[in-house]
Amino acid sequence: MITRIPDVNSVRASLQKFPRPLALVPTMGALHDGHLSLIREARKQVGSGGTVVVSIFVNPIQFDRASDLSTYPQPLAEDLARCEAEGVEIAFVPEKKDLYYGDRSILVTESLLSKHLCGASRPGHFDGVLTIVLKLFNIFQPEIAVFGNKDFQQLAIIRRMVRDLNLPVQIIGHPTVRENDGLALSSRNSRLSPGQRKDAPRIRRALEAARDLKVNGEQKPGVYLDAARSHLLAGAPGDFSIDYLELVDAGTLQPVAKVNCSAVLATACFYGNIRLIDHLEIRR
Ligand code: AMP
Repeated sequence: MITRIPDVNSVRASLQKFPRPLALVPTMGALHDGHLSLIREARKQVGSGGTVVVSIFVNPIQFDRASDLSTYPQPLAEDLARCEAEGVEIAFVPEKKDLYYGDRSILVTESLLSKHLCGASRPGHFDGVLTIVLKLFNIFQPEIAVFGNKDFQQLAIIRRMVRDLNLPVQIIGHPTVRENDGLALSSRNSRLSPGQRKDAPRIRRALEAARDLKVNGEQKPGVYLDAARSHLLAGAPGDFSIDYLELVDAGTLQPVAKVNCSAVLATACFYGNIRLIDHLEIRR
């Protein structure tokens, strides 16, 4: 039986009943097979004798667009059923008022890895992410926390926070789960119209087409970016647009001057107001 912890005050008492180690999987709900793969990884890490906690919270302070927040899917009953089916011991489903004081005045800020990509196009987003993740770490004090590599900038920034603030938690990154046609699973995919859904694998295909330039030893970032851009836009529907397309160093997340190291080609695209992200590593 899954235990649902509704608020922060009851966490401490509830946790006493659950054995360590404890692995935390933070989510915003609308759980799909990508989330389930993180939950299975968490189970693998702690074993049948440990505890897996899934948090489900649409964190308002990480949203930069009100329409994105108000349309974010929240099928809570299905989410809890999926957690239960996976053998998750604890679902943490707080409300905003449980987590944030009206006069809160502390935020966690990262100042380097968040300069480009989603950090540039969504002001304040990573402050919101780091703040909620640090709060969840403090509330549950997990030995392990599992995050998806799909949000690779988020994962890098969380690792940096753990390193720079000496947080006693091990961060596990887990590979991206995709549909058969290559589209990365995302809670936002459910908002795509059938036509948009059919078109959306163009994002992955464009990144792959650009990456293939590597076999010829191409080193100029502009050549990769031009190739990806033209694949993204060729025959795209009228409501499709590119939010950003960047080629960054895999370690520093700063734009590369030459593709002679491990680099990441990353994009965020819109179908109407639905924003999807994907990336591909271009290895040395
Ligand atoms: P979200 O609910 O979108 O905040 O995501 C919660 C966690 O699931 C994050 O660590 C994401 O990186 C991860 N995640 C989201 N989509 C996928 C996917 N397609 N494959 C693997 N992990 C994912």
